Amino acid sequence: MRRTMTGAARASLAALLLAGAAQAEPVLYRGFTLIDGTGAAPRAGQAMLVDGARIRWVGAQGKAPKRRGVRTVDLGGKYLMPGIIDLHIHIGTVRDLVQKAEYFTPESVRRDLRTYAAFGVTTVQSMGTDKDSVLAIRDAGRDGPQTMARLLTAGQGLVFKGGYGGVPGINHPVATPEEAAAEVDAQARKGVDYIKLWMDDELGAMPKMPYAISKAIIDAGHRRGKRVLAHVFYLADAKMLVAQGIDGFMHSVRDKPVDAELIDAMKARGVWQGAGTLSREAAVYAFAADNPRTRDPFFRQAADPATIAGLESPEREKSIASSRIYPALPRIDEQARDNEMALARAGVRYGFGTDAGPPGRLPGYSEHWELEQLVKAGFTPAQAIHAATGRSAQWLGTGDRGVIATGRLADFVVLDADPTRDILNSRRIAAVYVGGTKVPSVR
Ligand SMILES: [Zn+2]
Repeated sequence: MRRTMTGAARASLAALLLAGAAQAEPVLYRGFTLIDGTGAAPRAGQAMLVDGARIRWVGAQGKAPKRRGVRTVDLGGKYLMPGIIDLHIHIGTVRDLVQKAEYFTPESVRRDLRTYAAFGVTTVQSMGTDKDSVLAIRDAGRDGPQTMARLLTAGQGLVFKGGYGGVPGINHPVATPEEAAAEVDAQARKGVDYIKLWMDDELGAMPKMPYAISKAIIDAGHRRGKRVLAHVFYLADAKMLVAQGIDGFMHSVRDKPVDAELIDAMKARGVWQGAGTLSREAAVYAFAADNPRTRDPFFRQAADPATIAGLESPEREKSIASSRIYPALPRIDEQARDNEMALARAGVRYGFGTDAGPPGRLPGYSEHWELEQLVKAGFTPAQAIHAATGRSAQWLGTGDRGVIATGRLADFVVLDADPTRDILNSRRIAAVYVGGTKVPSVR
């Protein structure tokens, strides 16, 4: 997309902005099959009235309200669903497969948000590697018409000193419970949406955050009225974090099968499986050898030529294949899928998240890969779409998106084919709207 966001695309974006400013007329979209984000079966022959940034009416096309001055857009043969909500991304720090704090600028954040929107991802939750300049962008995109995805942020997530997680130069590692509580207070004062912590040891290679620190973080976050989310890997850590009051997990447990003890505790305490990040688990080793994915035109729209050349380079493939953790990765990937399915089947509340953004995990493409992986895990395509829309909206709790219904933001995607029949049809993007504004999209 970055490749296509030059020249003509930028000119057309400028034209759209002007058109958006001038265009106050309501629009009736009609003739489409609706996938409304609630998990309900698709309904053919629907219509939707959008006025400004909001949906004013939705229902059977024969019952559409007759109003003067309404422009009509015929979507016969198309499928309309809410924009995808990704609860776990990282933004702004990557260029050509290299991640650096200094790459993070307001412009790099906006570039990524435009890419997400182009792929039908209209809300993203950035999980703890942001500089403070993200907050103004977040505020400007809370509601109303937009030309890019809307954003929530966990600011600078909590990393144990010398341990796993974060981006050097952005996060402020903590060594004691007192430092941790002070850092949570600092984040809350800035107005972040969530507190994030990392509890992992990179398969034994790094020190892991002690439980006394995670407890201090969770307690401080709750004192400040913030939900606390964890990067987790091990089953034992997940159980401890639930006992300590964590609000959600941003990855699947990946060392062992989840068991009744964890499932029961998550249900009893209302803990969310916020993100399965199955596409992450696939992506971390997918490019250890020649991979046909990099030749897929849809994939290629998510990356500039240098990124694709990097992913296809034999040297990079060799360095992944020879890494210490490489032999463990296929099993971890499989365990992540099995556990995500097990939690969903057991009735644990879950959302949708990819961990897109770091090198090789392409913004925009990753969400469609995640849908594909959820189906591989055993979800129906309709369940996968429900996770990425209405269920993730429930986590946000804002009540203004994720479902196509009267009063909600007009954040939606128009598709050429039915994604509930074949999840790969989520990629057949005809148009994307954010707050009623059509944005430049991939095809
Ligand atoms: Zn992450």
